[in-house]
Amino acid sequence: MAKSRFEYVKGFENHPILLLNTYIAVRIDGRGFHQFSKEHNFTKPNDVRALDLMNQCAKSVMEEYTDIVIAYGESDEFSFVISKKSQLYKRRESKIVSCIVSRFSSSYVFYWKDFMGDTPLKYPPVFDGRAVCYPSLENIRDYLSWRQADTHINNLYNTCFWLMVQDPSQKYKSEKEVENILKDTNSSQKNELLFSQYNVNYAKLPEQFRKGSVLYSDKRNVTEIGKNGKEVVRSRRVIVIDHCDIIGEDFWKQHPHILP
Ligand code: ATP
Ligand code: ATP
Ligand code: MG
Ligand code: MG
Ligand code: MG
Ligand code: MG
Repeated sequence: MAKSRFEYVKGFENHPILLLNTYIAVRIDGRGFHQFSKEHNFTKPNDVRALDLMNQCAKSVMEEYTDIVIAYGESDEFSFVISKKSQLYKRRESKIVSCIVSRFSSSYVFYWKDFMGDTPLKYPPVFDGRAVCYPSLENIRDYLSWRQADTHINNLYNTCFWLMVQDPSQKYKSEKEVENILKDTNSSQKNELLFSQYNVNYAKLPEQFRKGSVLYSDKRNVTEIGKNGKEVVRSRRVIVIDHCDIIGEDFWKQHPHILP
């Protein structure tokens, strides 16, 4: 195609490249979801439908970008880890981040009804995104551990907070009062509070809330309908959604192919 005299403006573009031979962690996070979750009547502290919707969006991202080897999600955020050798978009940062965040956001709207039923989506949700390069296996494992430790801290706090705020005897006058009480407690005091005041054993709460969601692709036996119309079992790559510990060694020993 003939070039116009305006074409030179293209020369002003710059394309930061994510460092070669490093794991790329792309983290997306919902903007203003404190408010968004209130406006859409999310169950507090954990609305399972909304968490499952987030997982479906992450799955949709991983189906499109097969260089993502593992994803980890909690609350309104998800982290996607791209393999060291990936040449996705020639490792152009803005392409990678914008396409992942865009696929995630459009999926959130696309799948909303499947998870949230009759709850109308009141306005288009926004997610931000960033990419960080981690050079070593230790660094990327620590990154994922950091996010899962955060899930634990937040969930323990939120479980206490919402039980106290919704206390049937209404003994706490305001959310502010509950915040003030909780800010001076450590983790074992929070566990104790849950048990003595609300008969809740924190360790028995669903793993999805305590551990967040881990997505990775794995070979599984899948039952399909063969050409002859009969059911056949085939080994297929599928995206698995788990709620397991990824801080300890067990998960990584069982799945050595994820982060070689
Ligand atoms: P920012 O725009 O800075 O990210 P934010 O309001 O989104 O602000 P976050 O720190 O990202 O704040 O926290 C997300 C909030 O969304 C949580 O505090 C929680 O109240 C709410 N939230 C997200 N997912 C759920 C869910 N599945 N169930 C209940 N509440 C949720
Ligand atoms: P890339 O992923 O690299 O952006 P692309 O296929 O999206 O590749 P673009 O250079 O962005 O390529 O061009 C967008 C193309 O989409 C146009 O060439 C045109 O064919 C098509 N297109 C976009 N909007 C319309 C429209 N309203 N009507 C018809 N065709 C359209
Ligand atoms: Mg944020
Ligand atoms: Mg947020
Ligand atoms: Mg968040
Ligand atoms: Mg285009």
